[in-house]
Amino acid sequence: MATPLLQFTDRGIYCEQGRFYIDPWKPVDDAVITHAHADHAYFGHKNYLAHHLSREVMLYRLGDINLRTIEYGETVTKHGVKITLYPAGHVIGSAQIRVEYKGQVWVVSGDYKTEDDGISTPFEPVKCHHFISECTFGMPIYNWKPQADLFVDVNNWWANNVQNGVATVIVGYSLGKAQRILQNLDLSIGKVYTHGVIENTNEALRRNGIILNPTERITIDSKKEEVRKGIILAPPSAVGTPWMRKFQPYSFGYCSGWMALRGAKRRRAADRGFIMSDHADFPGLVSAIDATGCECVYLTHGYTASFSRYLSEIGFNAREVHTLYGGEEEDASITEGEEKDETAPSGDIKKELAV
Ligand SMILES: [Zn+2]
Ligand SMILES: [Zn+2]
Repeated sequence: MATPLLQFTDRGIYCEQGRFYIDPWKPVDDAVITHAHADHAYFGHKNYLAHHLSREVMLYRLGDINLRTIEYGETVTKHGVKITLYPAGHVIGSAQIRVEYKGQVWVVSGDYKTEDDGISTPFEPVKCHHFISECTFGMPIYNWKPQADLFVDVNNWWANNVQNGVATVIVGYSLGKAQRILQNLDLSIGKVYTHGVIENTNEALRRNGIILNPTERITIDSKKEEVRKGIILAPPSAVGTPWMRKFQPYSFGYCSGWMALRGAKRRRAADRGFIMSDHADFPGLVSAIDATGCECVYLTHGYTASFSRYLSEIGFNAREVHTLYGGEEEDASITEGEEKDETAPSGDIKKELAV
């Protein structure tokens, strides 16, 4: 049997014919990167290829790397293998990688979501023979509310806090969630203040030509009474730190797909848990996989075992593969926490899957 066009190796997904890797986690000569999150864009490769809109964030996070960037739909050929990027809808600049050689087409999804978030280029299904997919939220309990409804909840909560004279702290990871929140806030309520990590990411995106709503970086000179009338965008790493405590009294909202699990909000000591994810929910995953028309789907990270069983039951040829993706950077601690000390949800999940 001929070698498959893409293989799963201990360095990452490898194309032997094209001599390149996709999102490798160990140093390689030629790396094609789906997006700038830390579990996909590692330091130490000789050459990087990614989407234009990942450029400034990758340079900010990885320093002086040798980076070539292209547009969605643009094709680069390496040793006869055609590489084309398609939007993944996950975060700004995220791409699915389509690889073609002698009529065989493989697509690597990276992380993706199927709902248009209004800031990332919307997900586009790509026909292929082999689809390599994530399944972070591959359980039926993950079924996202439409974004418009979600932000009605967020904005009402903020307006209420202003009325009650307490500050509003909203937490989401710095690349993706932070900008999505920023673009969907009702700015007639007040101003948006940012933690330094988020403002640095915003600045990188603005250098890349992305137009974001106005933000103000919080410094030691920021007036507490003014900040209280606005909303503070903070990364998960700021939770429980003296930086955050100085805004007391405040109401603290946490935005994550894991908020769908019982106990997640309590464990984060959040006042509000907003179920908001940059990954596809269960129906999104199934429809995205179906739309590829693929003859085989490989599941890289998430609920790979149960989701591949489910897909097999409904007629897909699904396989689990081992990678180091997953644990959406700053969100990783929540996942681990859930799996360690929250036994109830997994019991519920098993019941739901059995139906
Ligand atoms: Zn990601
Ligand atoms: Zn990831």
